[in-house]
Amino acid sequence: MTRTALITGSTSGIGLVIAREFARAGYQLIFNGLEPDGERIAAETVAPFGVRYRYFSTDLRNPAGIRKMVEDGLDTFGAVEVLINNAGIQYVSPVEDFPENKWNDLLSVHLSAAFHLSKALFPSMKKKQYGRIINISSAHGLIASPYKSAYVAAKHGLTGLTKTLAMEGGAFGITANAICPGYVLTPLVEKQIPEQMQVHGMSRPEVIEKIFLKEHAVKEFITPEAIAATALFLADSAAAPYISGAAIAVDAGWTAH
Ligand code: NAD
Repeated sequence: MTRTALITGSTSGIGLVIAREFARAGYQLIFNGLEPDGERIAAETVAPFGVRYRYFSTDLRNPAGIRKMVEDGLDTFGAVEVLINNAGIQYVSPVEDFPENKWNDLLSVHLSAAFHLSKALFPSMKKKQYGRIINISSAHGLIASPYKSAYVAAKHGLTGLTKTLAMEGGAFGITANAICPGYVLTPLVEKQIPEQMQVHGMSRPEVIEKIFLKEHAVKEFITPEAIAATALFLADSAAAPYISGAAIAVDAGWTAH
């Protein structure tokens, strides 16, 4: 049986690797992301595996756009069994200077979009008596760091939404789980390295060692492939029917402190 996965933020970073690994496993894909060459990225990602796909440049801050993407996706594929809420942005600032528009954007992309997508897909998942909702949260969905008020609040909220979806979906074959990664070297983190070099007056290797990997027990960046493997495991009907409402740390031991 061919299943379909809708993966947000799937034209960059972790989401792109998740999409590639789901395509390799035979899933049909709905790509979403704001990269200007998103259509080409999606086409090239699925090409080696020959699976059907659609790409949507929908801005996740727009609930009506989300509903349209889901409608079009369901029209094309008939069902969407797997929803991976992965899109994300970051903004770092002391709380007293935190711009309100950045707060609103982070909450919209990380948290409200996951709500709107789950809401739009729940009826068809219920009808099929099958669904897998996988929210890419963060170690920051479990613990805080200073200057990341919006990100930490949104990711903690996403962990709470995950638990509620697990409660509501359980009787209908729908599971919901959060994956909580530590630092993965993607464009989102690359962008923060020069900022941190400037703030701390450190070289790139120093910032990587003393800031980013400081709390990792395993002193490496986590690979996006490791996140994709966890997502594939959670999506699997046979492997993970009884894992629901969990926040699974894939954080190199960060939150074990
Ligand atoms: P990334 O910057 O490489 O990719 C983010 C994706 O989200 C892009 O495709 C982008 O277009 C999309 N996106 C951003 N705003 C959007 C919007 N308004 N509408 C639609 N799409 C939008 O980032 P990444 O590092 O791959 O992050 C993916 C997820 O993993 C995020 O939720 C992030 O919080 C989480 N995460 C990342 C790390 C890390 O260290 N990289 C650690 C923990 C959690």
